Amino acid sequence: MASQVNGHSSDSSSQGGEPLREDLQEFLSGEAPLHQLDDLTKVNPVTLETVLRCLQARYAVDTFYTNAGCTLVALNPFKPVPQLYSPALMREYHSAPQPQKLKPHIFTVGEQTYRNVKSLMEPVNQSIVVSGESGAGKTWTSRCLMKFYAVVATSPTSWESHKIAERIEQRILNSNPVMEAFGNACTLRNDNSSRFGKFIQLQLNRAQQMTGATVQTYLLEKTRVACQASSERNFHIFYQICKGASTDERLQWHLPEGAAFSWLPNPERTLEEDCFEVTREAMLHLGIDTPTQNNIFQVLAGLLHLGNVRFADSEDEAQPCQLRGDATCSIRTSALLLQLPEDPLLDTLRIRTIRAGRQQQVFRKPCSRAECDTRRDCLAKLVYARLFDWLVSVINSSICADPDSWTTFIGLLDVYGFESFPNNSLEQLCINYANEKLQQHFVAHYLRAQQEEYAVEGLEWSFVTYQDNQTCLDLIEGSPISICSLINEECRLNRPSSAAQLQTRIESALAGSPCLGHNKLSREPSFIVVHYAGPVQYHTAGLVEKNKDPVPPELTSLLQQSQDPLLKVMFPADPEEKAQEEPSGQSRAPVLTVVSKFKASLEQLLQVLHGTTPHYIRCIKPNSQGQAHTFLQEEVLSQLEACGLVETIHISAAGFPIRIPHRNFMERYELLRRLRAPTSSGPRSLPPAEGRSEWSPCTEAAALQPLLQDILHTLPALTQAAAIL
Ligand code: ATP
Ligand code: MG
Repeated sequence: MASQVNGHSSDSSSQGGEPLREDLQEFLSGEAPLHQLDDLTKVNPVTLETVLRCLQARYAVDTFYTNAGCTLVALNPFKPVPQLYSPALMREYHSAPQPQKLKPHIFTVGEQTYRNVKSLMEPVNQSIVVSGESGAGKTWTSRCLMKFYAVVATSPTSWESHKIAERIEQRILNSNPVMEAFGNACTLRNDNSSRFGKFIQLQLNRAQQMTGATVQTYLLEKTRVACQASSERNFHIFYQICKGASTDERLQWHLPEGAAFSWLPNPERTLEEDCFEVTREAMLHLGIDTPTQNNIFQVLAGLLHLGNVRFADSEDEAQPCQLRGDATCSIRTSALLLQLPEDPLLDTLRIRTIRAGRQQQVFRKPCSRAECDTRRDCLAKLVYARLFDWLVSVINSSICADPDSWTTFIGLLDVYGFESFPNNSLEQLCINYANEKLQQHFVAHYLRAQQEEYAVEGLEWSFVTYQDNQTCLDLIEGSPISICSLINEECRLNRPSSAAQLQTRIESALAGSPCLGHNKLSREPSFIVVHYAGPVQYHTAGLVEKNKDPVPPELTSLLQQSQDPLLKVMFPADPEEKAQEEPSGQSRAPVLTVVSKFKASLEQLLQVLHGTTPHYIRCIKPNSQGQAHTFLQEEVLSQLEACGLVETIHISAAGFPIRIPHRNFMERYELLRRLRAPTSSGPRSLPPAEGRSEWSPCTEAAALQPLLQDILHTLPALTQAAAIL
């Protein structure tokens, strides 16, 4: 078996194999080794334990992909398995007459999706939702799928068009290292953790060639720029610059070798992701020229110096805080790199401007040390978030196809999985809310699709009851009162509100919801939401402030004064924009809270997903240490619970797990039917095949249930006969 990887032999005929026959034989002998069960719907009985055992058995023989009905389960190998992702294997899945008969693989999902777009009379957009907890392999999987489409969706027609196609595919692939450099970071759970959600739409023309793509991002964790948990790091790009800059660039960006930056913790850790050259090269391919790149890195260096600015407590409240230690030098360098006037920069960080009265008189109030720190961090977050958005828009303009050059798309969604930490706040609420919506979409779509298919087939069936998470969604986002609306209300009213008051408000206003809980033992004000994936306790401290995400208007005005070409583009003097950022209470403009913005982008995403045929890949992390050959049952179990996998399998298994097109079934088993001794009632007749779709996997095996039973009765005798022979 040395030539096999993940159960894949290099021989395509054995790849295609005769899976159904094997299944039947194993079923009859009752001796199917667990690791050979490539669909979890065949595990009997379907429980967390049996599913876990099956996945573990497969993992032990380096088989990382398993079907779970309509979902593909992907175990992270935590080791390079290049043969599993080779272009040759991609082509094999692409050219297979029935890829679903090959070993489960992300390429099966990729190919199925690709064929769905192609083969239907009406082009239907497709989407692949990749989920799983941090470090489970979502980004890896999405990247591999993009590579798969770059290989299979090219144009072989002419050399010239092939060249163009290659260019666009290469550009699309190049968006990955750039977005990962700016949006990924080393965390406790993953050395290359995506700190944003991503939905990429690969655009295809009528000939099924990839002509472009668009990227949409969600909820970048911008706080990381100014605040990193211990043992974690800032975004990769900062380390790349500090490690990879040339001598000249170091001089230009004031980054002497070995310089210490407080926003650059753990620089001694060397990661594969620290390669500056890869990022620069990819940026170049995307059309970001060297001067623009240098401009970006200069701004980032300015932020690093800003992070070294320290304030001392002021003895006199009427006086602004003094700078500490080397901070004078840091602020000067930061101002220089950000092309900002030095004194206004310092003033903006230390002095709040308040407009009051009818005349809108301006009052200047020195900030406390903590407020100065907050304003400094806020400035960095504001610049970094805008830079990230700007980068995404540049990437989009570089890879997006002309509207008339594409007709369908395949969407790849790489979003953060369900999160539950000892301390959960607004970020987790948003992430879990998104997962709740995606789960609802999954259940609704899958049940609806199945129902429609059975109706067409004229089958009698009944569903297992499944968890409907509408009650939980009502609690989070419902109308008129929900957790989101209450948090937004606090922001709107802008009243002083303690964490305990917010807890009381939520508990009293939403007392009727069965999904709302309370932890009596908690010392911190909090509430519990019973999500489909399990209960999560959210602390209310800081929730309202985070939701406001206030940006002092002075900061924006300051950045609008920058002479830096890039900052000028990112912070144009736009009066409308200015009005938006006036703090509440001082402006009539409606405040767009974090929750409101997130909800709007989530709704937009779901609208797009609703217009597609979805496919699901659930990534599972076999252990949290990132070690190969290590399958920790407890850890996998909690992930299986969190993604509701057993429920998914039940839903799939409640339907008919084996779906064989009518003609294939007849071709394969007609002989057995003839062999069967006639009974008193005579051979059963087959249901007519007319009108049945040849393409879509259909449930006809189930419609042929009586015949199947006959065959199963006959087979032991045949097996016996074969043994004698
Ligand atoms: P996050 O939510 O933190 O972004 P993620 O689910 O996107 O996590 P990845 O970054 O895709 O996780 O994967 C984590 C690491 O696991 C990768 O950097 C890689 O080392 C390894 N890995 C994931 N999938 C595979 C695979 N199929 N083969 C080999 N290694 C893999
Ligand atoms: Mg990721």
